[in-house]
Amino acid sequence: MLVDTHCHLYEYGDEVPEVLERAREVGVVYVVAVSDDYESSVKSIELGKRYDSVLPLIGIHPWCCRYVSASEVAKLRELVEKFRDYVRGIGEVGLDKRFGRRYFDRQLEIFTEVLKLAHDHGLPLSIHCIKCEKLTLDLLRKFDIDIAVFHWYQGSLKVLEEIVELGYYISVNPSITYSRRSILVAKHAPLRNLLVESDSPYHFREISSEPATVALVVEKLAKLRNQSIDLIKEVLYWNSLRIFLR
Ligand SMILES: [Zn+2]
Repeated sequence: MLVDTHCHLYEYGDEVPEVLERAREVGVVYVVAVSDDYESSVKSIELGKRYDSVLPLIGIHPWCCRYVSASEVAKLRELVEKFRDYVRGIGEVGLDKRFGRRYFDRQLEIFTEVLKLAHDHGLPLSIHCIKCEKLTLDLLRKFDIDIAVFHWYQGSLKVLEEIVELGYYISVNPSITYSRRSILVAKHAPLRNLLVESDSPYHFREISSEPATVALVVEKLAKLRNQSIDLIKEVLYWNSLRIFLR
């Protein structure tokens, strides 16, 4: 059994039933549906209500911080309170240093509010973090966050060690078919701290990713790590449930 731990499912619109069916055919039993802003958070919750296999997360993507203010987090808080039985976590949220100073300050402001929300409700986080892993870890510690996933982790192996020590997770995706950094991470992360994701709909070079693609990711992982597909599936399945189905 497989779990796609990071998918922008709402983006599929009318195609959601077919996408979920294709995933089910290859053994994907749950799809963690992340959100990018308030509107998509509402859509993800709707999908979670409609499909038992969809686990909705609500959030504000750091790229969306350009047109969203920190007050939008108050609206997310209302969603959590209203739909607490459906909301399985907070994501996609985080920090991306590739933007200018002005937007980074806004990202930081929003991420801080989001961390308070996650802490108050004991919710896990699916984190987008580019070029600021240390700062992100400091903030997770500061806000006493128990469970966090560094989605598509691309940081150093040294920081990966810290992530593992703190009991957090990283997820890998189709980028392990071509990216040297992703391959290195996929080989070194302990199985206990590892997850797979499609980050779909996204094009990873020649792979047009969708939730079913995590089956390919697991096959590739088995080759890279020289472990059996069954072992990887088993451990990653329980890792996913420990985070998103508590
Ligand atoms: Zn994403």
